[in-house]
Amino acid sequence: MDKKTKILATVGPASDSVEILEGLINAGVNVFRLNFSHGTHEYHASTLAKIREAEKNAQKKVGVLQDICGPKIRVGKLEEDFYLEVGDKLYFTKEQIVGKKFDEGKYELCINQPQILDMLREDEYIYLYDGNIRARVIEAGDKIVTEIENSGKLSSNKGVNFPNTVINIEVITPKDKEDLLWGAQHGVDFVAVSFVQSAKDILNVRKILKEHKSRSHIFAKIEKFDAVEKIDEILEVSDGIMVARGDLGIEVPYYKVPSIQKRLIAKANAASKPVITATQMLLSMAEKEMATRAEISDVANAVLDGTDAVMLSEESAIGVNPIHVVEVMANTIRETETIYPYGKFEVYPFLDETDIISSSTARLADRLGVEAMISLTSSGKSAKKLARYRIKADIYAVTHDERIARSLTIAWGIKPIMNIEASNLNMMLGKTLQKGIERGLIDKEKTYIVAAGYPAGVEGSTNFIRILKKAQIEYYTDMVL
Ligand code: PGA
Ligand code: MN
Repeated sequence: MDKKTKILATVGPASDSVEILEGLINAGVNVFRLNFSHGTHEYHASTLAKIREAEKNAQKKVGVLQDICGPKIRVGKLEEDFYLEVGDKLYFTKEQIVGKKFDEGKYELCINQPQILDMLREDEYIYLYDGNIRARVIEAGDKIVTEIENSGKLSSNKGVNFPNTVINIEVITPKDKEDLLWGAQHGVDFVAVSFVQSAKDILNVRKILKEHKSRSHIFAKIEKFDAVEKIDEILEVSDGIMVARGDLGIEVPYYKVPSIQKRLIAKANAASKPVITATQMLLSMAEKEMATRAEISDVANAVLDGTDAVMLSEESAIGVNPIHVVEVMANTIRETETIYPYGKFEVYPFLDETDIISSSTARLADRLGVEAMISLTSSGKSAKKLARYRIKADIYAVTHDERIARSLTIAWGIKPIMNIEASNLNMMLGKTLQKGIERGLIDKEKTYIVAAGYPAGVEGSTNFIRILKKAQIEYYTDMVL
């Protein structure tokens, strides 16, 4: 049986050849992430073409996630590095200047989104350089004066976070708009939106994608403190979420990240929407051959929390041995899934009628100990609804739409399977089973359960459930001979 929890790997200079991409797929990658914080459109287009070639060679469907960078706030250029000491004063100016030391213990600089400075109040904090340097606002006004609370080196263009300040800035930047157009033209499967603040941001992206006739699924990256507070409205309008722990760990106190991770995963699970756990999962493997015990435990615990997918960033983009990182991750997942709390039937509310039907289907499958649930699905939604119960059997999601198949690569326990359209449900089922037997996915000696909407093609929820044993499998496969 394949692992259930999916793996996302960021592609970068260490992994952007067809050969390595194929190796990554064979080692367990389900979705590749193109990080639009780096690289040109030409670079990403060539990477995407290589991914599709590797996918063909490996004969396994993989998804592609485009991560758009959003309004990452950065300090401007500095004349030279600032060696900041506790008690030093750091001035933020609204004019675009080259940052410099202008007196003993006094420095000034600017940021790329100066309008934010108007929103700061006394005693709020500003974090610089991935949270390494903390500065407290002691004077708000035309210039922002801050006092440094821990020492550190600051260099040009480093990131800035405002964990106490609601900054009402446009989440979709002009660069993001161009990137979204690129994604639409290149048919990416998922778009991840950085620094989401509210549901409105996702709705804006959806509108843009619609204008470009894109079918990409939209994932909200939860990495701002206000996004955590508004998770319900954001989840409602998103197709999935990412627990983006890198920036999140600066935006909220570090010790809250694990509890927030668990809460976000539980909410996404309840809504049958895929959730990705991201950043620093096996970070030491960016430079070393082996991860720390703590990192291995982090991957295992994210799996047990119920995440659909775990993500690699630097580890696979610029790391020393991307294929080995994926092997370590996949091994950890496989072992952890032997102690997985399968069959989560009591946990979730019924949000609609489909939930009632899918919970009964999953329960039936679980009790019968079926080998796999087969979901004939046109949007992929019913397969995701089945996955919510996390039962041990595989979920084969059968679709004739390649885009839908790829949209399911990110969801827990689902194996997307392509089939050609058939004139009716019986024929469809017959062809699916026949193909499954040929590919070694269906064993006539085992039991399966199939769920579909009947008649095929008529909108509506699942209303056809059949238990398939040898006799039934032969009945349907004989039909297509
Ligand atoms: P990033 O997002 O890698 O694009 O910053 C992920 C995170 O912040 O965890
Ligand atoms: Mn981030």
